[in-house]
Amino acid sequence: MSKNQNILIIGAGLCGSLLALRMAQRGFQVTLVEKRPDLRKIIQDAGRSINLALSDRGLRGLRIAGVEEAAKKLCIPMNGRMIHDKAGNTFLSPYSGRKNEYINSVSRPGLNMLLLDEAEKMPNVKIIFNHACENVDLENASAVFKEFNSDKEITISADVIFGTDGAGSAVRKNMYENHKFLFSFSQQWLGHGYKELEIPAAENNGYRTYKNALHIWPRGEDMLIALPNLDGSFTVTLFLPYENNDYCFANLTTPEMVHEYFNKEYPDVVEMIPNLSEEFFNNPIGPLGTVKCSPWNSFGKVLLLGDAAHAIVPFYGQGMNASFEDVVVFDEILEKYASEENINWNTILKEYESKRINDTDAIADLAVDNFHEMKEHTAMEIFQNKRKLETAFEAEFPEEYYSKYSLVTFKESISYSEAMKRGRAQDKAILNLLDDGKLTEEMSLKEKLELVKKETQAILHDD
Ligand code: FAD
Repeated sequence: MSKNQNILIIGAGLCGSLLALRMAQRGFQVTLVEKRPDLRKIIQDAGRSINLALSDRGLRGLRIAGVEEAAKKLCIPMNGRMIHDKAGNTFLSPYSGRKNEYINSVSRPGLNMLLLDEAEKMPNVKIIFNHACENVDLENASAVFKEFNSDKEITISADVIFGTDGAGSAVRKNMYENHKFLFSFSQQWLGHGYKELEIPAAENNGYRTYKNALHIWPRGEDMLIALPNLDGSFTVTLFLPYENNDYCFANLTTPEMVHEYFNKEYPDVVEMIPNLSEEFFNNPIGPLGTVKCSPWNSFGKVLLLGDAAHAIVPFYGQGMNASFEDVVVFDEILEKYASEENINWNTILKEYESKRINDTDAIADLAVDNFHEMKEHTAMEIFQNKRKLETAFEAEFPEEYYSKYSLVTFKESISYSEAMKRGRAQDKAILNLLDDGKLTEEMSLKEKLELVKKETQAILHDD
């Protein structure tokens, strides 16, 4: 494959910087352009530490680019969900019955900086910051960028362009405007927004609550979660309806109301966030939505990847993981054509899209399902019993049983769409059997597993 090709990547977030690194490792000439300043030099997001759950699919993307071990140094393992009830009682629900399966809390800027550092080490990568993409000539693979705080514009041409400019993608907007009714686009808002807060570190960088878990305070329509940071702090995210709820962003307008709400719903958290109302009013509210679109490919010259192609709600902790997996899937297709002398980008981009789109649709739908599971179901007895049973199956029969969560999060050898199909059938099977009282005390765990498998097969067959 001829490497004398110019690649333009628009957006140096998580997906764009990993893609730049991998394409450079394959020998292409890469230009990576980012709207924002270099986050390694200028503190952004008001200095708040924002973290993400990184799991096996994302780690695989980092592995193919040789940065998995470096990334792991930034990670804190989270073995399960620590559920907090209103009385302050907690219990840990492991993510898997297999001891080696856990997810990781990682700093978003930390990971992004690592990827930028590694990309920048490559002699064939040029990174340009402070330039926002304004317009893309899709047919001729060139893009116009405007420098921040100036009227200066630059135009960059390439053999192929990748739009990795996130959920509000300017590249996608160009496709939408250019292809009109031949471009399908949907954006579904959840009706909830999110706000990040912080539990600061205790003395000597100690943790004020259990370190190795993703903490959840499920309260029905609203929910609080917290993920640990290396410095002893936790990044807390409040998910709350915008309006039409007893407590919602529209009515939490005074420090008194914020304290009333937290004292009532999350009393154990109030004592851990000393500047609760200041943080609440200083930090922005972010929207939560799902973006689906197609085609991702335009004229065989421009391709959308990451959130630009498929933004999802964060409740499966898979948006970044899916974006890194995009790079893996794309890389496998490049590898397939590696021995051909001339690159046919049109073939490669189309093949990528047809291989990938069902899977990103699946994780988008699973993420919305998990929103309901986290905010409501984690607090319900039947769901807790289901999780206990699944954890026991995984511990006793590690080769035979993977829960839906494990299929999505830890079994990167199967696709998201397959994980969704199998996982949903299993969920339905166990809940039906529990509800009907068919999984009795007298049965051995093996007998229960066989019954769940049989019921799952019947459901898959009916579907
Ligand atoms: P982004 O990270 O958004 O990067 C896009 C980049 O493009 C940015 O640097 C942006 O500045 C730049 N850009 C934008 N417009 C332009 C332009 N016009 N020109 C040039 N550059 C531009 N995922 C997980 O896997 N695990 C989690 O636990 C998790 N938690 C989340 C929690 C919340 C509250 C949210 C909102 C998301 C979460 N996600 C999580 C999802 C994850 O953040 C995204 O899926 C991931 O960031 C996508 O990476 P990306 O590179 O495609 O987009």
